[in-house]
Amino acid sequence: MKIDSYVCGAWRGDGDKSVTLNSAVDGKELFTLNGLASGFDDVVEYGRQVGGVSLRQMTIHERANLLKKLAAHLMSKKEEFYRLSYFTGATRADSWIDIEGGIGTLFSYSSMARRALANERFIVEGDVEPLSAGGSFLGQHILTSKRGVSFHINAFNFPVWGMLEKIAPSLIAGVPVIVKPGTVTSYLTHAVVKEIIASGILPNGAIQLICGGVGDLFEHLDEQDSVTFTGSASTGKMLRSHPNITDKNIPFNMEADSLNACILAPDVRPDSPEFNAFVKEVHREMTTKAGQKCTAIRRIFVPRNLVETVSESLKQRLLRTPIGDPANDTVRMGALVGKAQRQDVLDSVEKLLGDCESLMSGWEGIDTSGFSTDKGAFMAPCLLYCDTPLTSQLVHEVEAFGPVSTLMPYDDFDQIGDLVARGRGSLVSSLFSYDQENIHRLVHEMAPYNGRILVNNRESMKESTGHGSPLPSLVHGGPGRAGGGEELGGLRAVKHYMQRTAVQGSPNALTSVTREYVAGADRRLDPVHPFKKYFEDLQVGDGLTTHRRTITEADIVNFGCLSGDHFYAHFDETSAADSLFGQRVAHGYFVISAAAGMFVEPSPGPVLANYGLDNLRFINPAGIGDTIQVELTVKRKVQKTPRPDDTHPAGVIVWDVKVTNQHYEVVALYEVLTLVAYRQSQV
Ligand code: NDP
Repeated sequence: MKIDSYVCGAWRGDGDKSVTLNSAVDGKELFTLNGLASGFDDVVEYGRQVGGVSLRQMTIHERANLLKKLAAHLMSKKEEFYRLSYFTGATRADSWIDIEGGIGTLFSYSSMARRALANERFIVEGDVEPLSAGGSFLGQHILTSKRGVSFHINAFNFPVWGMLEKIAPSLIAGVPVIVKPGTVTSYLTHAVVKEIIASGILPNGAIQLICGGVGDLFEHLDEQDSVTFTGSASTGKMLRSHPNITDKNIPFNMEADSLNACILAPDVRPDSPEFNAFVKEVHREMTTKAGQKCTAIRRIFVPRNLVETVSESLKQRLLRTPIGDPANDTVRMGALVGKAQRQDVLDSVEKLLGDCESLMSGWEGIDTSGFSTDKGAFMAPCLLYCDTPLTSQLVHEVEAFGPVSTLMPYDDFDQIGDLVARGRGSLVSSLFSYDQENIHRLVHEMAPYNGRILVNNRESMKESTGHGSPLPSLVHGGPGRAGGGEELGGLRAVKHYMQRTAVQGSPNALTSVTREYVAGADRRLDPVHPFKKYFEDLQVGDGLTTHRRTITEADIVNFGCLSGDHFYAHFDETSAADSLFGQRVAHGYFVISAAAGMFVEPSPGPVLANYGLDNLRFINPAGIGDTIQVELTVKRKVQKTPRPDDTHPAGVIVWDVKVTNQHYEVVALYEVLTLVAYRQSQV
């Protein structure tokens, strides 16, 4: 079968050099990849002109809905992906991370975007910044979709997740993608893209696939484009310094190999629950995907007196690990991706032996009857030991991208920060400790050198997602050696593909830019109470100014008795006189309760429920005799897609609430969130 590229709306493979892709398990020839001969400028332009234009016409929620549909479609085809994934040497459990982990990332991004972002084509970020005493000049940050493409270069080890975790935030951001998978496993990425295209869910040009070389594509990128790269530090450095990338300051996000650490803290004894969890975690990281994970544990630090015990426990587990054909259900560790990769790993082990001795390597004691180490790219787990980690360099520098890890002792807890830092930046480190002081100290020591830190102990070990799992909601990336980039991290990743702009102007100017009411902008007061209006009929800026109410002592006493809150500032004349307020004041919660009583329209109507308050601040106290009044204004509308079983489909109206006193001084400011029914069905 032939592996093509999908560019400019068609499948093509017209390159004159062909590459044969083999099974990692038995070396059989599986596919031929031809690559593209030319036309890389057209690919970039097609992405910008066709994909970009279509995506930008959609709102963020519309894009998110496409992702959800796409995820459901790919999930229905997952068995075909699993079938192909065995050829990469991965077991079903390994492929679960890649395939279902990848599809799960699409679901996560779809839901995060619909939950947290407005149904607009842009994002409003952060608070309005006051820039003038009179309030007529303000600032607000917005994010808009870049007008280019995002070019994603992926590593061989996660052919599905690697693609999907990058395209999800790009597409939510409204930016089309060009995907370039690692050649050796490109047939799996190819199969997923075939399904994406066949489903017709994404608009034309939203995704293109380049299998094989990328020709002169880098020459055609410009300031609105961006590049993300996962792979080796050397290739990453070379691509990042391409003259067109540096000349045009094209964002280049890099995630490279790193020497991740796992630390057994000095408070852990061999009979502590943390000890077993630690050994299990290191074993899992050495054997999952045969250690071909950018997050795998390469450096194991343990107190010197526990070296022997840890090494024995680990060796026992490694020897008990069934290795072989990944399609066989009982197998726990499959093959490396290919023989060239195995050679690369063996060469790196050779280098590491300059600093280390081998505690376990080779096939001795391991059942090899179910596979051929000649035909397939199998490798025995390799546990090394370095006695002098404070003076040795190679153990902190050389990454053997396979089932290889080095055990090292520390003599003093104070050495750990330094040892971790010697890796010069990692994607993740983990700490096994049940001592709160140790946890605090070490996390703060390690944090500047790590993108993620896992703390594990008896309290979390049952539910922990593990050292090696990047999660859609958490940042994935690391400083220095790890590439200096950042992926995922929830909506942070969406923003990488958008331009942040600080907009300055009057309240009305900002309201028209953001479609959110900004204090000081014009309000529309209508004789029809806003609670009588359906979601579609309410407009940003629609408001109500209520009648007034004078606060009496009876109000304070009644509220105190009802709530049980007899705080001295409300009830003790003498103490209140010495207080911050100089006199008795009304409860803040009375003020907002009274405000609700003033602005609600009590009869049944489209407002279904109040589901919370945001950003509540009591600015000035209100005392006996003060007269309050409320301004209620539609600040923001959040469209929600109703679920099929939704009996009361509704959107969210965020109301800006300002309570003032008789001197027009602000007493309280907050936002009320209500569910407001749709006038028309949204389905
Ligand atoms: P590479 O850095 O060689 O390749 C990574 C990606 O870059 C692949 O898609 C590769 O494509 C592409 N690439 C290579 N050269 C160019 C170029 N000139 N222009 C455009 N794209 C290019 O890494 P490998 O995948 O070969 O793995 C090598 C080592 O990298 C591993 O042994 C490991 O140490 C590390 N690694 C780190 C990972 C991480 O997640 N941090 C993941 C995987 C590997 P092609 O395959 O066609 O060459």
